[in-house]
Amino acid sequence: MNPGIDQIRDQVRQTLAAMRWRVRRREVGRLVSVGDGVGRVRGAPSVRFGELLERADGLTGLAFDIRPREIGVLFLDPSEHVSAGDELRATGRVSSVAVDDKLLGRVVDALGRPIDGGPSFRPRAYWPTEREAPGVIDRQPVREPMHTGIQVVDTLLPLGRGQRELILGDRATGKTSLALDAILAQRGSEVLCVYTAIGLRKTNVAEVVDTLAQAGALASTVVVAADAESPPGQQYLAPYAACTIGEFFMSQGRHVLVVYDSLSNHADAYRRIALLLGRSPGREAYPPDVFYLHARLLERATRLHDRLGGGSLTALPIATTQAGNISAYIPTNLISITDGQLYLDSHLFNEGVRPAVDVGLSVSRVGGKAQPRVLRTLASDLRLVYAQLHELETFARFGAELEPETRRRLELGRRLREALKQPRLAPLRVGHQAAVLFAIREGFLDSVPVDQIVHFLADLRRRLDETCAHVLDAIERENTLSTESTASLKQTLEALQRNHVKEQPP
Ligand code: ATP
Ligand code: MG
Repeated sequence: MNPGIDQIRDQVRQTLAAMRWRVRRREVGRLVSVGDGVGRVRGAPSVRFGELLERADGLTGLAFDIRPREIGVLFLDPSEHVSAGDELRATGRVSSVAVDDKLLGRVVDALGRPIDGGPSFRPRAYWPTEREAPGVIDRQPVREPMHTGIQVVDTLLPLGRGQRELILGDRATGKTSLALDAILAQRGSEVLCVYTAIGLRKTNVAEVVDTLAQAGALASTVVVAADAESPPGQQYLAPYAACTIGEFFMSQGRHVLVVYDSLSNHADAYRRIALLLGRSPGREAYPPDVFYLHARLLERATRLHDRLGGGSLTALPIATTQAGNISAYIPTNLISITDGQLYLDSHLFNEGVRPAVDVGLSVSRVGGKAQPRVLRTLASDLRLVYAQLHELETFARFGAELEPETRRRLELGRRLREALKQPRLAPLRVGHQAAVLFAIREGFLDSVPVDQIVHFLADLRRRLDETCAHVLDAIERENTLSTESTASLKQTLEALQRNHVKEQPP
Protein backbone atom coordinates (compact mmCIF):
# COMPACT_ATOMS: atom_id res chain seq x y z
CA MET A 1 0.00 0.00 0.00
CA ASN A 2 1.11 3.54 -0.64
CA PRO A 3 3.02 4.78 2.47
CA GLY A 4 1.74 8.31 1.89
CA ILE A 5 -1.84 7.20 2.31
CA ASP A 6 -0.91 5.32 5.46
CA GLN A 7 0.57 8.44 6.98
CA ILE A 8 -2.43 10.53 6.07
CA ARG A 9 -4.75 7.96 7.53
CA ASP A 10 -2.80 7.92 10.80
CA GLN A 11 -2.86 11.67 10.99
CA VAL A 12 -6.58 11.83 10.38
CA ARG A 13 -7.10 9.20 13.04
CA GLN A 14 -5.04 11.11 15.59
CA THR A 15 -6.78 14.37 14.82
CA LEU A 16 -10.17 12.77 15.17
CA ALA A 17 -9.17 11.13 18.48
CA ALA A 18 -7.95 14.47 19.82
CA MET A 19 -11.15 16.17 18.69
CA ARG A 20 -13.26 13.52 20.33
CA TRP A 21 -11.23 13.94 23.52
CA ARG A 22 -11.79 17.70 23.48
CA VAL A 23 -15.49 17.28 22.82
CA ARG A 24 -15.66 14.72 25.62
CA ARG A 25 -13.82 16.97 28.03
CA ARG A 26 -16.36 19.70 27.47
CA GLU A 27 -19.23 17.35 28.12
CA VAL A 28 -21.50 18.82 30.74
CA GLY A 29 -24.31 16.89 32.39
CA ARG A 30 -27.18 18.06 34.49
CA LEU A 31 -28.24 16.60 37.83
CA VAL A 32 -31.75 15.22 37.74
CA SER A 33 -31.87 14.07 41.35
CA VAL A 34 -29.73 14.38 44.48
CA GLY A 35 -29.91 12.82 47.92
CA ASP A 36 -27.81 11.09 50.61
CA GLY A 37 -24.52 11.87 48.90
CA VAL A 38 -25.60 10.31 45.62
CA GLY A 39 -26.89 12.01 42.45
CA ARG A 40 -28.10 11.13 38.97
CA VAL A 41 -26.77 12.97 35.95
CA ARG A 42 -28.12 13.17 32.41
CA GLY A 43 -26.47 14.56 29.33
CA ALA A 44 -22.91 13.32 29.67
CA PRO A 45 -23.08 10.11 27.62
CA SER A 46 -19.37 9.39 27.22
CA VAL A 47 -18.38 9.64 30.90
CA ARG A 48 -16.59 6.46 31.97
CA PHE A 49 -16.84 4.46 35.19
CA GLY A 50 -14.58 5.97 37.87
CA GLU A 51 -14.26 9.36 36.14
CA LEU A 52 -14.45 12.52 38.21
CA LEU A 53 -17.08 15.18 37.51
CA GLU A 54 -16.88 18.73 38.82
CA ARG A 55 -19.27 21.55 39.51
CA ALA A 56 -18.03 25.05 38.66
CA ASP A 57 -17.09 25.67 42.33
CA GLY A 58 -14.87 22.56 42.48
CA LEU A 59 -17.35 20.23 44.18
CA THR A 60 -16.37 16.74 43.07
CA GLY A 61 -18.34 13.61 42.21
CA LEU A 62 -17.33 10.15 41.07
CA ALA A 63 -19.12 8.43 38.17
CA PHE A 64 -20.14 5.14 39.72
CA ASP A 65 -23.11 3.75 37.92
CA ILE A 66 -23.20 3.94 34.15
CA ARG A 67 -26.64 3.40 32.60
CA PRO A 68 -27.83 3.98 29.03
CA ARG A 69 -29.50 7.34 29.72
CA GLU A 70 -27.96 8.53 32.96
CA ILE A 71 -25.08 8.04 35.35
CA GLY A 72 -25.07 7.64 39.12
CA VAL A 73 -22.57 9.93 40.85
CA LEU A 74 -21.07 9.64 44.36
CA PHE A 75 -20.27 13.03 45.80
CA LEU A 76 -16.85 13.33 47.39
CA ASP A 77 -17.76 16.63 49.07
CA PRO A 78 -20.70 17.46 51.33
CA SER A 79 -23.70 17.68 49.07
CA GLU A 80 -26.25 19.63 51.14
CA HIS A 81 -25.94 22.56 48.76
CA VAL A 82 -26.23 20.53 45.60
CA SER A 83 -29.57 20.51 43.90
CA ALA A 84 -31.25 19.08 40.82
CA GLY A 85 -30.47 21.21 37.80
CA ASP A 86 -26.82 21.84 38.79
CA GLU A 87 -24.31 21.25 36.04
CA LEU A 88 -21.45 18.78 36.40
CA ARG A 89 -18.56 18.84 33.95
CA ALA A 90 -16.69 15.67 32.97
CA THR A 91 -12.99 16.08 33.77
CA GLY A 92 -11.48 13.11 31.94
CA ARG A 93 -9.57 12.26 35.16
CA VAL A 94 -10.03 9.22 37.37
CA SER A 95 -10.15 9.60 41.15
CA SER A 96 -6.61 10.14 42.41
CA VAL A 97 -4.96 10.80 45.72
CA ALA A 98 -2.05 13.11 46.51
CA VAL A 99 1.15 11.16 47.19
CA ASP A 100 4.10 12.78 48.89
CA ASP A 101 6.35 12.46 51.95
CA LYS A 102 4.65 15.63 53.17
CA LEU A 103 1.58 13.51 53.94
CA LEU A 104 3.41 11.99 56.92
CA GLY A 105 2.08 13.46 60.15
CA ARG A 106 -1.09 14.70 58.45
CA VAL A 107 -4.77 13.81 58.44
CA VAL A 108 -6.17 13.79 54.92
CA ASP A 109 -9.37 12.79 53.13
CA ALA A 110 -9.70 10.18 50.41
CA LEU A 111 -8.31 12.57 47.78
CA GLY A 112 -5.29 13.44 49.92
CA ARG A 113 -6.60 16.90 50.87
CA PRO A 114 -5.55 17.91 54.42
CA ILE A 115 -8.45 18.01 56.89
CA ASP A 116 -6.45 18.67 60.05
CA GLY A 117 -6.49 22.44 59.77
CA GLY A 118 -2.76 22.45 58.92
CA PRO A 119 -1.16 24.11 55.90
CA SER A 120 -2.03 22.88 52.44
CA PHE A 121 0.79 21.73 50.19
CA ARG A 122 1.49 21.03 46.55
CA PRO A 123 1.91 17.26 46.32
CA ARG A 124 4.65 15.62 44.32
CA ALA A 125 2.13 13.65 42.29
CA TYR A 126 -1.38 12.26 42.14
CA TRP A 127 -1.78 8.52 41.86
CA PRO A 128 -5.06 6.79 40.97
CA THR A 129 -6.90 5.33 43.96
CA GLU A 130 -7.61 2.14 42.00
CA ARG A 131 -4.38 0.45 40.93
CA GLU A 132 -3.65 -3.01 39.71
CA ALA A 133 -2.05 -5.33 42.26
CA PRO A 134 1.54 -6.41 41.49
CA GLY A 135 1.76 -9.63 39.49
CA VAL A 136 3.30 -12.84 40.78
CA ILE A 137 6.73 -12.25 39.24
CA ASP A 138 6.92 -8.81 40.82
CA ARG A 139 6.49 -10.26 44.30
CA GLN A 140 8.68 -12.23 46.65
CA PRO A 141 7.79 -14.36 49.66
CA VAL A 142 7.26 -12.83 53.08
CA ARG A 143 10.50 -13.38 54.95
CA GLU A 144 11.15 -10.38 57.18
CA PRO A 145 9.34 -9.93 60.49
CA MET A 146 6.73 -7.20 60.99
CA HIS A 147 7.27 -6.57 64.66
CA THR A 148 4.03 -5.56 66.40
CA GLY A 149 5.32 -5.16 69.95
CA ILE A 150 2.38 -7.25 71.16
CA GLN A 151 3.74 -10.22 73.07
CA VAL A 152 0.98 -12.68 72.20
CA VAL A 153 1.17 -11.82 68.49
CA ASP A 154 4.94 -11.76 68.14
CA THR A 155 5.28 -14.96 70.16
CA LEU A 156 2.42 -17.16 68.97
CA LEU A 157 1.05 -15.50 65.81
CA PRO A 158 4.00 -13.69 64.24
CA LEU A 159 3.49 -11.45 61.22
CA GLY A 160 5.80 -10.79 58.29
CA ARG A 161 6.27 -7.77 56.07
CA GLY A 162 3.87 -7.98 53.14
CA GLN A 163 1.34 -10.11 55.02
CA ARG A 164 -2.42 -9.42 55.29
CA GLU A 165 -3.73 -10.17 58.76
CA LEU A 166 -7.34 -9.56 59.72
CA ILE A 167 -8.14 -8.19 63.18
CA LEU A 168 -11.54 -9.56 64.02
CA GLY A 169 -13.81 -9.29 67.05
CA ASP A 170 -17.00 -7.96 68.61
CA ARG A 171 -17.51 -4.29 69.45
CA ALA A 172 -15.11 -2.87 72.05
CA THR A 173 -12.79 -5.86 72.28
CA GLY A 174 -9.63 -3.85 71.63
CA LYS A 175 -9.31 -4.12 67.83
CA THR A 176 -8.33 -0.51 67.26
CA SER A 177 -6.01 -0.63 70.29
CA LEU A 178 -4.22 -3.67 68.85
CA ALA A 179 -3.68 -1.95 65.52
CA LEU A 180 -2.50 1.25 67.20
CA ASP A 181 -0.01 -0.72 69.29
CA ALA A 182 1.37 -2.19 66.09
CA ILE A 183 1.76 1.36 64.71
CA LEU A 184 3.41 2.55 67.91
CA ALA A 185 5.86 -0.35 67.73
CA GLN A 186 7.22 1.10 64.46
CA ARG A 187 8.49 4.27 66.12
CA GLY A 188 12.16 4.77 65.40
CA SER A 189 12.17 2.00 62.78
CA GLU A 190 12.17 2.30 59.00
CA VAL A 191 8.49 1.28 58.75
CA LEU A 192 5.98 3.97 57.78
CA CYS A 193 2.30 3.63 58.69
CA VAL A 194 -1.05 4.56 57.19
CA TYR A 195 -4.10 4.48 59.42
CA THR A 196 -7.46 4.53 57.62
CA ALA A 197 -10.60 5.51 59.50
CA ILE A 198 -13.75 4.42 57.68
CA GLY A 199 -17.16 5.23 59.08
CA LEU A 200 -15.88 5.82 62.63
CA ARG A 201 -17.31 8.53 64.84
CA LYS A 202 -15.53 11.87 64.56
CA THR A 203 -14.53 11.69 68.24
CA ASN A 204 -12.94 8.27 67.73
CA VAL A 205 -10.88 9.56 64.83
CA ALA A 206 -9.77 12.54 66.93
CA GLU A 207 -8.80 10.17 69.77
CA VAL A 208 -6.70 8.02 67.45
CA VAL A 209 -4.90 11.06 66.03
CA ASP A 210 -4.34 12.35 69.55
CA THR A 211 -2.99 9.00 70.75
CA LEU A 212 -0.60 8.80 67.80
CA ALA A 213 0.58 12.37 68.33
CA GLN A 214 1.13 11.96 72.07
CA ALA A 215 3.01 8.71 71.59
CA GLY A 216 5.26 10.34 69.01
CA ALA A 217 4.08 8.04 66.22
CA LEU A 218 2.23 10.57 64.08
CA ALA A 219 5.35 11.88 62.38
CA SER A 220 5.78 8.59 60.52
CA THR A 221 2.06 7.97 59.97
CA VAL A 222 -0.49 9.20 57.45
CA VAL A 223 -4.09 9.23 58.67
CA VAL A 224 -6.70 8.88 55.91
CA ALA A 225 -10.04 9.69 57.48
CA ALA A 226 -13.57 9.30 56.18
CA ASP A 227 -15.67 9.41 59.33
CA ALA A 228 -19.30 8.42 59.64
CA GLU A 229 -20.43 11.95 58.76
CA SER A 230 -18.38 12.23 55.59
CA PRO A 231 -20.04 11.54 52.21
CA PRO A 232 -20.46 7.83 51.41
CA GLY A 233 -18.21 8.36 48.38
CA GLN A 234 -15.35 9.32 50.70
CA GLN A 235 -15.95 6.27 52.87
CA TYR A 236 -15.96 4.07 49.80
CA LEU A 237 -12.70 5.53 48.43
CA ALA A 238 -10.74 5.90 51.69
CA PRO A 239 -9.15 2.41 51.89
CA TYR A 240 -8.10 2.49 48.21
CA ALA A 241 -6.59 5.95 48.72
CA ALA A 242 -4.74 4.75 51.83
CA CYS A 243 -3.44 1.76 49.89
CA THR A 244 -2.23 4.03 47.07
CA ILE A 245 -0.37 6.22 49.56
CA GLY A 246 1.19 3.05 51.00
CA GLU A 247 2.14 1.89 47.50
CA PHE A 248 3.83 5.22 46.84
CA PHE A 249 6.14 4.63 49.83
CA MET A 250 6.55 0.96 48.91
CA SER A 251 7.61 1.92 45.39
CA GLN A 252 10.60 3.70 46.95
CA GLY A 253 11.73 0.45 48.58
CA ARG A 254 10.26 1.37 51.94
CA HIS A 255 8.19 -0.79 54.29
CA VAL A 256 4.64 0.25 55.07
CA LEU A 257 2.00 -0.90 57.54
CA VAL A 258 -1.56 -0.02 56.53
CA VAL A 259 -4.50 -0.33 58.94
CA TYR A 260 -8.08 -0.30 57.60
CA ASP A 261 -10.44 0.51 60.49
CA SER A 262 -12.85 -0.97 59.59
CA LEU A 263 -13.76 -2.92 56.46
CA SER A 264 -17.11 -3.81 58.05
CA ASN A 265 -17.95 -0.12 57.94
CA HIS A 266 -16.59 0.00 54.41
CA ALA A 267 -18.88 -2.83 53.32
CA ASP A 268 -21.81 -1.06 55.01
CA ALA A 269 -21.04 2.20 53.19
CA TYR A 270 -20.86 0.29 49.92
CA ARG A 271 -24.17 -1.39 50.64
CA ARG A 272 -25.77 2.00 51.31
CA ILE A 273 -24.40 3.38 48.06
CA ALA A 274 -25.56 0.37 46.06
CA LEU A 275 -29.06 0.55 47.51
CA LEU A 276 -29.26 4.29 46.82
CA LEU A 277 -28.19 3.65 43.24
CA GLY A 278 -30.87 1.00 42.89
CA ARG A 279 -28.52 -1.95 42.35
CA SER A 280 -29.95 -5.33 43.10
CA PRO A 281 -29.06 -6.47 46.61
CA GLY A 282 -27.52 -9.87 47.24
CA ARG A 283 -26.89 -11.79 50.44
CA GLU A 284 -27.63 -9.74 53.60
CA ALA A 285 -28.52 -6.89 51.20
CA TYR A 286 -24.84 -6.40 50.29
CA PRO A 287 -24.18 -5.93 46.57
CA PRO A 288 -23.08 -9.19 44.95
CA ASP A 289 -19.57 -7.86 44.25
CA VAL A 290 -18.76 -7.08 47.90
CA PHE A 291 -16.11 -9.85 47.89
CA TYR A 292 -14.32 -8.24 44.96
CA LEU A 293 -14.50 -4.89 46.79
CA HIS A 294 -12.13 -6.20 49.47
CA ALA A 295 -10.24 -8.78 47.42
CA ARG A 296 -8.90 -6.17 45.02
CA LEU A 297 -7.89 -3.95 47.94
CA LEU A 298 -6.06 -6.60 49.96
CA GLU A 299 -4.48 -8.12 46.87
CA ARG A 300 -2.38 -4.97 46.74
CA ALA A 301 -0.57 -5.85 49.98
CA THR A 302 2.71 -7.54 49.13
CA ARG A 303 6.45 -7.77 49.40
CA LEU A 304 7.91 -6.46 46.13
CA HIS A 305 10.73 -8.23 44.37
CA ASP A 306 14.23 -6.83 45.02
CA ARG A 307 14.34 -5.86 41.35
CA LEU A 308 11.57 -3.35 42.18
CA GLY A 309 13.22 -2.05 45.32
CA GLY A 310 12.09 -4.76 47.74
CA GLY A 311 9.55 -2.56 49.55
CA SER A 312 6.54 -4.05 51.30
CA LEU A 313 2.99 -3.22 52.21
CA THR A 314 1.55 -5.06 55.20
CA ALA A 315 -2.22 -4.79 55.65
CA LEU A 316 -4.12 -5.00 58.93
CA PRO A 317 -7.79 -4.83 57.99
CA ILE A 318 -10.22 -4.71 60.91
CA ALA A 319 -13.69 -6.30 60.89
CA THR A 320 -16.44 -6.36 63.48
CA THR A 321 -18.34 -9.49 64.42
CA GLN A 322 -21.70 -9.68 66.13
CA ALA A 323 -21.98 -11.92 69.18
CA GLY A 324 -18.76 -13.65 68.20
CA ASN A 325 -20.17 -14.89 64.90
CA ILE A 326 -17.05 -15.22 62.78
CA SER A 327 -18.91 -17.16 60.14
CA ALA A 328 -21.00 -14.15 59.09
CA TYR A 329 -20.78 -12.96 55.48
CA ILE A 330 -18.19 -10.15 55.63
CA PRO A 331 -15.92 -11.85 58.23
CA THR A 332 -15.74 -15.09 56.22
CA ASN A 333 -15.04 -13.13 53.04
CA LEU A 334 -12.19 -11.32 54.73
CA ILE A 335 -10.85 -14.47 56.41
CA SER A 336 -10.58 -16.10 53.01
CA ILE A 337 -8.82 -13.11 51.47
CA THR A 338 -6.24 -12.58 54.22
CA ASP A 339 -3.27 -14.65 55.40
CA GLY A 340 -4.79 -15.22 58.82
CA GLN A 341 -6.75 -13.53 61.55
CA LEU A 342 -6.29 -12.31 65.09
CA TYR A 343 -9.60 -13.04 66.74
CA LEU A 344 -10.42 -10.96 69.82
CA ASP A 345 -12.89 -12.62 72.14
CA SER A 346 -15.30 -10.59 74.27
CA HIS A 347 -15.38 -13.23 77.06
CA LEU A 348 -11.60 -13.16 77.37
CA PHE A 349 -11.74 -9.36 77.30
CA ASN A 350 -14.25 -9.30 80.13
CA GLU A 351 -12.19 -11.81 82.15
CA GLY A 352 -9.31 -9.35 81.96
CA VAL A 353 -7.23 -11.19 79.37
CA ARG A 354 -6.07 -8.19 77.36
CA PRO A 355 -5.24 -8.11 74.53
CA ALA A 356 -8.10 -10.59 74.25
CA VAL A 357 -6.58 -12.66 71.43
CA ASP A 358 -8.18 -16.11 71.24
CA VAL A 359 -5.14 -18.12 70.23
CA GLY A 360 -7.23 -21.15 69.26
CA LEU A 361 -9.26 -19.24 66.67
CA SER A 362 -6.39 -17.09 65.46
CA VAL A 363 -3.84 -18.00 62.86
CA SER A 364 -0.96 -16.43 61.00
CA ARG A 365 -0.23 -18.28 57.78
CA VAL A 366 2.94 -16.84 56.33
CA GLY A 367 4.48 -14.93 59.23
CA GLY A 368 5.95 -17.96 61.01
CA LYS A 369 8.78 -18.13 58.51
CA ALA A 370 9.61 -14.51 59.25
CA GLN A 371 9.64 -14.75 63.06
CA PRO A 372 12.95 -13.65 64.61
CA ARG A 373 14.95 -16.78 65.39
CA VAL A 374 15.37 -15.92 69.06
CA LEU A 375 11.59 -15.75 69.57
CA ARG A 376 10.91 -18.81 67.44
CA THR A 377 13.27 -20.93 69.54
CA LEU A 378 11.86 -19.70 72.83
CA ALA A 379 8.21 -19.96 71.74
CA SER A 380 8.52 -23.39 70.13
CA ASP A 381 5.80 -25.40 71.93
CA LEU A 382 4.06 -22.62 73.86
CA ARG A 383 1.23 -22.38 71.34
CA LEU A 384 0.25 -25.95 72.15
CA VAL A 385 0.44 -25.29 75.89
CA TYR A 386 -1.81 -22.28 75.46
CA ALA A 387 -4.24 -24.11 73.20
CA GLN A 388 -4.64 -26.90 75.76
CA LEU A 389 -5.14 -24.51 78.67
CA HIS A 390 -8.87 -23.99 78.25
CA GLU A 391 -9.53 -27.71 78.05
CA LEU A 392 -7.36 -28.50 81.06
CA GLU A 393 -9.01 -25.78 83.13
CA THR A 394 -12.45 -27.17 82.36
CA PHE A 395 -11.20 -30.61 83.29
CA ALA A 396 -9.68 -29.37 86.56
CA ARG A 397 -12.87 -27.49 87.43
CA PHE A 398 -14.74 -30.77 87.70
CA GLY A 399 -12.33 -31.81 90.44
CA ALA A 400 -10.65 -34.45 88.34
CA GLU A 401 -7.37 -35.82 89.66
CA LEU A 402 -4.64 -34.59 87.36
CA GLU A 403 -1.43 -36.42 86.64
CA PRO A 404 1.70 -34.49 87.63
CA GLU A 405 2.63 -33.83 84.00
CA THR A 406 -0.88 -32.54 83.20
CA ARG A 407 -0.85 -30.36 86.31
CA ARG A 408 2.52 -28.96 85.23
CA ARG A 409 1.15 -28.04 81.82
CA LEU A 410 -1.90 -26.45 83.40
CA GLU A 411 0.24 -24.32 85.69
CA LEU A 412 2.55 -23.41 82.82
CA GLY A 413 -0.46 -22.44 80.68
CA ARG A 414 -1.88 -20.22 83.42
CA ARG A 415 1.44 -18.49 83.83
CA LEU A 416 1.81 -18.10 80.10
CA ARG A 417 -1.62 -16.46 79.84
CA GLU A 418 -0.61 -13.95 82.50
CA ALA A 419 2.71 -13.32 80.81
CA LEU A 420 0.96 -12.51 77.54
CA LYS A 421 -1.24 -9.82 79.09
CA GLN A 422 -0.23 -6.35 78.11
CA PRO A 423 -1.64 -2.88 78.68
CA ARG A 424 -2.50 -0.88 75.58
CA LEU A 425 -0.06 1.64 74.10
CA ALA A 426 2.91 -0.22 75.52
CA PRO A 427 4.50 -2.25 72.71
CA LEU A 428 7.51 -4.30 73.69
CA ARG A 429 10.85 -4.62 71.96
CA VAL A 430 12.10 -8.06 70.89
CA GLY A 431 14.65 -8.10 73.74
CA HIS A 432 11.90 -7.71 76.34
CA GLN A 433 9.76 -10.34 74.67
CA ALA A 434 12.64 -12.80 74.62
CA ALA A 435 13.39 -12.15 78.30
CA VAL A 436 9.76 -12.84 79.26
CA LEU A 437 9.73 -16.12 77.29
CA PHE A 438 13.06 -17.09 78.84
CA ALA A 439 11.62 -16.49 82.33
CA ILE A 440 8.68 -18.79 81.55
CA ARG A 441 10.73 -21.56 80.00
CA GLU A 442 13.39 -21.63 82.68
CA GLY A 443 10.77 -21.87 85.43
CA PHE A 444 11.43 -18.47 86.98
CA LEU A 445 7.69 -17.85 87.17
CA ASP A 446 6.88 -21.14 88.88
CA SER A 447 7.31 -19.74 92.36
CA VAL A 448 5.53 -16.46 91.56
CA PRO A 449 1.80 -16.50 92.43
CA VAL A 450 -0.28 -16.25 89.25
CA ASP A 451 -1.82 -12.91 90.20
CA GLN A 452 1.67 -11.44 90.73
CA ILE A 453 3.08 -12.36 87.35
CA VAL A 454 2.11 -9.19 85.49
CA HIS A 455 3.77 -7.16 88.23
CA PHE A 456 6.86 -9.42 88.30
CA LEU A 457 7.39 -9.16 84.55
CA ALA A 458 6.93 -5.39 84.55
CA ASP A 459 9.67 -5.30 87.22
CA LEU A 460 11.84 -7.52 85.07
CA ARG A 461 11.52 -5.23 82.06
CA ARG A 462 12.21 -2.14 84.12
CA ARG A 463 15.30 -3.73 85.65
CA LEU A 464 16.57 -4.84 82.24
CA ASP A 465 16.11 -1.34 80.87
CA GLU A 466 17.95 0.20 83.80
CA THR A 467 20.86 -2.19 84.16
CA CYS A 468 21.04 -4.46 81.15
CA ALA A 469 20.17 -2.37 78.10
CA HIS A 470 23.28 -3.77 76.42
CA VAL A 471 21.95 -7.32 76.90
CA LEU A 472 18.67 -6.37 75.21
CA ASP A 473 20.65 -4.83 72.35
CA ALA A 474 22.80 -7.95 72.08
CA ILE A 475 19.77 -10.28 71.98
CA GLU A 476 18.25 -8.25 69.15
CA ARG A 477 21.48 -7.86 67.24
CA GLU A 478 22.55 -11.50 67.52
CA ASN A 479 18.96 -12.77 67.15
CA THR A 480 19.76 -15.55 69.61
CA LEU A 481 20.46 -15.98 73.32
CA SER A 482 24.23 -16.16 73.61
CA THR A 483 25.90 -17.67 76.66
CA GLU A 484 26.59 -14.17 78.03
CA SER A 485 23.01 -12.94 77.47
CA THR A 486 21.66 -16.10 79.10
CA ALA A 487 23.90 -15.58 82.13
CA SER A 488 22.86 -11.93 82.50
CA LEU A 489 19.16 -12.80 82.20
CA LYS A 490 19.53 -15.57 84.79
CA GLN A 491 21.32 -13.23 87.16
CA THR A 492 18.68 -10.52 86.81
CA LEU A 493 15.84 -13.00 87.27
CA GLU A 494 17.43 -14.56 90.36
CA ALA A 495 17.91 -11.17 91.96
CA LEU A 496 14.34 -10.25 91.14
CA GLN A 497 13.05 -13.50 92.56
CA ARG A 498 14.88 -12.94 95.86
CA ASN A 499 13.42 -9.43 96.11
CA HIS A 500 10.00 -10.67 95.26
CA VAL A 501 10.04 -13.44 97.88
CA LYS A 502 11.10 -10.84 100.45
CA GLU A 503 8.15 -8.61 99.47
CA GLN A 504 5.67 -11.46 99.88
CA PRO A 505 4.01 -11.72 103.27
CA PRO A 506 4.98 -15.01 105.02
P1 ATP B 1 -15.01 -0.71 68.43
O1 ATP B 1 -15.64 -1.99 68.03
O2 ATP B 1 -15.94 0.20 69.13
O3 ATP B 1 -14.22 -0.07 67.36
P2 ATP B 1 -12.54 -1.78 69.41
O4 ATP B 1 -12.71 -3.26 69.27
O5 ATP B 1 -11.75 -1.08 68.39
O6 ATP B 1 -13.95 -1.11 69.60
P3 ATP B 1 -10.99 -0.40 71.38
O7 ATP B 1 -11.64 0.89 71.13
O8 ATP B 1 -9.60 -0.58 70.87
O9 ATP B 1 -11.91 -1.58 70.86
O10 ATP B 1 -10.93 -0.77 72.91
C1 ATP B 1 -12.11 -0.84 73.70
C2 ATP B 1 -11.75 -0.51 75.13
O11 ATP B 1 -10.86 -1.46 75.67
C3 ATP B 1 -11.07 0.85 75.27
O12 ATP B 1 -11.58 1.51 76.37
C4 ATP B 1 -9.61 0.48 75.52
O13 ATP B 1 -8.99 1.42 76.34
C5 ATP B 1 -9.71 -0.86 76.21
N1 ATP B 1 -8.54 -1.69 75.89
C6 ATP B 1 -8.18 -2.14 74.68
N2 ATP B 1 -7.05 -2.88 74.74
C7 ATP B 1 -6.70 -2.90 76.05
C8 ATP B 1 -5.61 -3.50 76.77
N3 ATP B 1 -4.67 -4.22 76.17
N4 ATP B 1 -5.59 -3.32 78.11
C9 ATP B 1 -6.52 -2.60 78.72
N5 ATP B 1 -7.55 -2.01 78.10
C10 ATP B 1 -7.66 -2.15 76.79
MG1 MG C 1 -12.29 0.36 66.99
